[in-house]
Amino acid sequence: MIVRLAQWMLKTKFGDFLEVLYYDGQKESIALVMGEVNDGEEILCRVHSSCIAAHIFNSIECDCREQMEMSQFWIEQEGKGGVIWLDQEGKGNGHLALLASRPLKAQGLSQADAYERVGYKIDARDYTRAAEILRDLGVKSVTLLTNNSRKADDLTRVGINIAGIRPIYKSAEGNKEKP
Ligand SMILES: [Zn+2]
Repeated sequence: MIVRLAQWMLKTKFGDFLEVLYYDGQKESIALVMGEVNDGEEILCRVHSSCIAAHIFNSIECDCREQMEMSQFWIEQEGKGGVIWLDQEGKGNGHLALLASRPLKAQGLSQADAYERVGYKIDARDYTRAAEILRDLGVKSVTLLTNNSRKADDLTRVGINIAGIRPIYKSAEGNKEKP
């Protein structure tokens, strides 16, 4: 079970968000919330998994940073919404898996095949925490910010009510595969 530990306002390039820290005994998760979302339907929502390379080291090999920026941009435009950040690097396999898969990816394998070859899952991400956080925030349904329509299925499976999908952007730059 996830519990709310602390919260405070965070000033960002895209306005002020309430940062809410959750913990479930294993991992910390964070919700960034703008506006009143309690009891809300079709709340603009980005569910975002960690990416050390993009968010800390300014990697240009994926577009995780751009996706976060655009998500916050759209939420600010709407005046209401939330980002849920989940600590699950490397498609939930962890950072070791990510680095271990890199040489195979450099040889031309897809990220999915590279993970499998080094003994990990194609996609080990678990969105249960996001479902629990949305429940805690009182969000009834979300308009999901994503460029990947399969993600809506993954989120539906854990009980998140998806009212619709809004693509974050459409461009050649926006179609890099998340590692
Ligand atoms: Zn990334």
